Formats: sequence, C-alpha cells, structure tokens
Amino acid sequence: MSRSSTTTKRSITKRTPAKKAVARKTPVKKKKAANKTKITKAVRKAAAKITPTPIVKRNPLGHLLIEKILRESGFRGGISTSKKLLDAYSTDESIFSIRPQVVIQPKNRHDVEIATKVIAKETERFESLSLTPRAAGTGLGGGSLTDSVVIDMCAHLNKVGDVTVKKKAITFTCDPGAMWKNVEKKLKEHDAYLPPYPASKDICSVGGSIANNAAGPDSLRHGHCSEWIQSLDVVLHDGHTYTIKPLSYREFKILIKQNHEHSRIAKEVFALISKNEKEIKANKPETAKNSAGYPLWKVVPEGIAKFKKGVGTFDLTQLIAGSQGTIGIITHLTLRALPIPENTSLIALPIFNLENAAESISKALKYNPINVEIFDALTFDLALRNPSFFKDRLDKSLYYKVMFQMYTTYHVRFRRKIPEFIVLVTLDEETTQKHDPIKIAKSLSEEKVKARLVTNPIESEMYWQIRRASYTLSKFQDKTKRPAAFLEDMTVPPENLSKFFVRIKALLKEFNVTAAVHGHGGNGHFHFYPLLDFTNQTTPALVEKMSEKFFSTAVKFKGNICGEHNDGIIRTPHLNKMFSKKMLNLFKETESIFDPSDIFNPGKKVNPRFDIKSSMRTTN
Ligand SMILES: Cc1cc2nc3c(=O)[nH]c(=O)nc-3n(C[C@H](O)[C@H](O)[C@H](O)COP(=O)(O)OP(=O)(O)OC[C@H]3O[C@@H](n4cnc5c(N)ncnc54)[C@H](O)[C@@H]3O)c2cc1C
Repeated sequence: MSRSSTTTKRSITKRTPAKKAVARKTPVKKKKAANKTKITKAVRKAAAKITPTPIVKRNPLGHLLIEKILRESGFRGGISTSKKLLDAYSTDESIFSIRPQVVIQPKNRHDVEIATKVIAKETERFESLSLTPRAAGTGLGGGSLTDSVVIDMCAHLNKVGDVTVKKKAITFTCDPGAMWKNVEKKLKEHDAYLPPYPASKDICSVGGSIANNAAGPDSLRHGHCSEWIQSLDVVLHDGHTYTIKPLSYREFKILIKQNHEHSRIAKEVFALISKNEKEIKANKPETAKNSAGYPLWKVVPEGIAKFKKGVGTFDLTQLIAGSQGTIGIITHLTLRALPIPENTSLIALPIFNLENAAESISKALKYNPINVEIFDALTFDLALRNPSFFKDRLDKSLYYKVMFQMYTTYHVRFRRKIPEFIVLVTLDEETTQKHDPIKIAKSLSEEKVKARLVTNPIESEMYWQIRRASYTLSKFQDKTKRPAAFLEDMTVPPENLSKFFVRIKALLKEFNVTAAVHGHGGNGHFHFYPLLDFTNQTTPALVEKMSEKFFSTAVKFKGNICGEHNDGIIRTPHLNKMFSKKMLNLFKETESIFDPSDIFNPGKKVNPRFDIKSSMRTTN
C-alpha cells in the first residue's frame, strides 16, 4: 500500500536503480583505496553540499567513508547512497520525514555483525554515525527513521523457517524480515496462527513487530508479541550474536559467570532491577496494553526475592521486544504459536449512545472473549461511500455479497441511522458451550444497545472488512489532507472508555479537527487519526499543541499514550507524562547498559534528539 512498504522489498543488489550504484561502486573500491588524496577531496566537496539538521551536529565525512570501510571489513550486502533510495527510506507511516545518509542491506547475520562492529568503532571518530534497523517500514511513530545509516532487515533476511509441533506445543522460526503474511501462510498449513497479529499483518514483518512489541485484536486474551517469544538471536553492541531467552535462576547464575557482553548486560540489568524494584513496580502502567518505555517490570516478573528462590525467570527478551532497535538488532526468531480457534461466535453491538459503550464492553469482558473490537459511525459511513475500495480486497462474488450486506444493514437493520459505535465481540467454542450465545447477546443488551449473535458469515465478513480497513478508509475523508498518526495509540482502563472518549470528542471539536475512530474496545484502546494538511506551515505547531493536551488527558484517565505502536519520535518526548523522573533515568541506564556508545537508533525511547516540528513531513 504505502511507498515505504514497497520500498523495503527492494534489494539494492537486484533490480533497483541503487543496484547500479552498488554494482558500479564495488569494482572502483580498490582504486578508491589506492588513491586516498583524491577521495578526501571528493568527499569534502560532496560533504559541503549536505545541509546539517538543526538539532544534530553531523560529521558527514563518516557517512561518506562508511561504504569503503564496510567493504574492507567484508560486508557483502548492498550499500547505497542513491538519492531515490534515500528518499524512499525517509518516510514510514508516521508524520515524519527524515533523510538517512546511507542505506545498507545485509545479506546475512554476519553482515549485521560487521555493520555493528564498524559503526561502533567509527563512532569514536565520527560521532554522528549510528545504525537504525528498518523492517517493512509500516511503523506509525517514526521508529525506523534516521539521519544516519539505515540497515534494511527485509531485503535479504526474510526467510520463513520450520514449524515444529511437539505435544501440542507449536513453535516456528524465521528471519527478522520475514513478512507476517508469509509466516501466517506457513502456520496455516499446521492450522496454527500467531495470536498478537496486528491489523497491518499483510504489510509488516515479524521482526519489526517484535521490535515494536506490536499487538492486535486477539491481544485482549493473548497479549503482545513479546509474550510469544521462545528465543531471539540478537547482535549486541560488540558485534557478536547472542541467543537470548528466559532463564531459570540456575541458568542465570551460569550465564553471569561467563565473560562476554550478554553476561555483563544480564548482571547489570539484574543489579539495576534489584536496586530499584519498588520504583519499577510503582511505574508499571495500569493498562493491560503498553509499549511505552523499557518494561523493566517484565524482566523478573515474580520479583527478585522469589527468583532467587528458584521461582520464575529472568527474561531479557522482554526488553529487546519493543525496544525499537535501540539496544540490539534481532537476526533470528523462535516464536510460539497457537491452534487457530474454531467455531467462534460473533456478537455485534450497535451502540447509539456513547455512554453505554463502557458498560456493554465491561459486561462482554466477563465472558473472556478472544477480542472486543470497535469502529465508529464515520468509519461505517466511509465504507458505505467507498464501495470500490473493497473490490481489490475481495473475490468478485464475495465482494458483491459483502456490499449487498453492507447496504441492507444500513437501510434495513439500522434504518439509515448509523450507530455511534459498532462493537464486535468474538467468543470461543469453550464459552459458547457453557453459555448459550443468544443469551449472552441478550445479557449485553441495554435500552439502546440491541446486541445480536451474527449467524450469517457474510455479515460477519462485512463487519471485519470494515474494521480491518478502518485506518485506510480514514484516508478517503479528504484527499487534500492526511490522517495523521500521533494521537492514535492512547489506551485507558476499559471502564474509563466512555468518559475518556466524551472528553476526546470535545477536544477534537475544540481544535476543529475531525477523525474516524476504531480500536480495541476490550483494552480501552482507541485509534484515531486527525485529518491534517501537512502542506500547511501551521500544522507542526498544531501537532505539538494537540499532543500535549491529548496525552495529558489520557494519563488523567489512568491511561497511557502508547498502547502498541511504540514511542518512536513522536511519543518519546512525552514519556515524562507517564513515568517518574527516576524511572526515566532507569530507562536511560538500561539503554546505556546494552548500548554504551549509543550506536543503535539514537533518539527513540530515551534521549529524544529529533525536533518534532522541523522533522515533520511537508506533503500529505
Ligand atoms: C494500516 C496500519 C495498521 C497498523 N495496525 C497495527 C496494529 O494493529 N497493531 C500494532 O501494533 N501496530 C500496527 N501498525 C503499526 C506497524 O505496522 C506495526 O507496529 C508493525 O508490527 C511494524 O512492523 P514493520 O515490519 O513495518 O517494522 P518497522 O516499522 O520497519 O520497524 C519497527 C521498529 O522496529 C525496529 N526494527 C525493525 N527491525 C528490527 C530488527 N531486526 N531488530 C531490531 N529492531 C528492529 C525499527 O527500527 C523500528 O523502530 C499499523 C500500521 C499501519 C500502517
């Protein structure tokens, strides 16, 4: 769909214009090395043309020499500074546009190790060098954007490995750049799936999802991506690969006696948590979903005292997941999966009065649903007005059936009055065997909420098509504007959902901005993307003002600012609204234990360094 998602499929060494650049440059390498004076002159001349960003003092020389140094160190993948390619890597699905200096595409894990070693060494000479991993580039917070070196993890490292089924436990392996849809296909052959699938599963990678700690509809029951990790191979700052997994106390003690960086990091993180256990516990977000900060509370979940008695685990994968490439680069994954739930039942709740939403959702949660999803009247209206949008997504006959269903739902069932919200509740077979789903639907009904069991599969398909397309549909509101991702990830305890949303609606009105709303109702998690014109010079200031106001509101309702899309550039400067000063320092210490020279994706999660206003995109 997006430019960013298609660009990552390109390989510099194949097909793209960049290929030529690389192919041309490689044989010249020896000549270049032999003629140092000439290079220096050329490099200086080119360097003079590069305009530094207002915030970061860049030493362009480092970037101009990096290709030569990488090649001399044995890097075999693609390296490019082609303008076209750098432009393509300047944006993701966020509101930012930041141009990298160099794009590299490792051929294998060894290349990632070489790149890390080279950047770690060269930052001593050229301070502004850093390494930012990028997978499919569908992130909404600017996590994969950088003004230095991008390492594209999708171009070559994209293989899906084996699925293993042992005594009902399903595991599988894959490269970090394996696309979610390809993994899904492979798992389906074993009637299995990866439960925290994000709505972007058709366009994103598995590694990027782990690095963002993504989540989706079924996360209501099955949690974030981090909960499905068996082990991760990670290149740490010393350029070596370590297999990181949850450890028992005995295994932990063996690890910390060893002499390498994984051992040192484990020892130091353990000491940090032991010393600050109270503060960490006090700062644990109240919402079930969270991808803000480094979740130190999840590393020794049973607490230090119990762990020392052999209870629970010490699990650094919980810090790697959601770290947005700031503490290491994932090069291989072993994850768990589940059987695809069969014979599920869908209950649809049209909510005409917003006040009723929280109550109906709270009642639904008592039945342990697999998911509780919502979308608003504007989303349904956009679907009605843009039927052709669904043409590419559905087979011809299904398309006509779904569209017919959509119009009859509107004209007959809703009598041309679209409910303020539609809530979808999915129940599993275990629940519906215990409780009659028709009775459950009745129990969820209120005076103005007539919940129904959906028995027609076409009707069910129609609701899910609209829910899954909600973000893309919001782009049809006004083609001269962009649905802007910056307030889209706030989460509140579900009981506060109605009150919070009433306040959000008032604030949108105050700022004179419209936004279609959808999200994960069961988690009190709203996604909404205000329509803004990024060609307008006043937009950056408006974004800053709105962020300030809306994020403070979420925290007032005991919520957080970042349920699943992670901190990136947009939310990192606002983490002080959620966490104490001491906790923010613990995040910084954590980052620096893993990455002492700050080579990995600086400016995200801690130490914000990108100026929000001047880094903002200027096109819609
Ligand atoms: C239409 C749409 C719907 C979406 N729906 C959801 C949703 O339901 N839930 C959700 O959580 N998100 C959602 N997203 C956001 C995004 O798609 C997901 O977070 C996705 O999992 C990111 O995967 P990616 O491959 O695009 O990663 P990228 O965006 O390329 O990278 C994500 C982060 O991980 C880092 N990274 C990438 N690869 C590695 C690696 N190998 N090692 C270490 N760090 C790495 C990057 O530096 C970046 O900070 C949506 C986005 C869009 C456009």
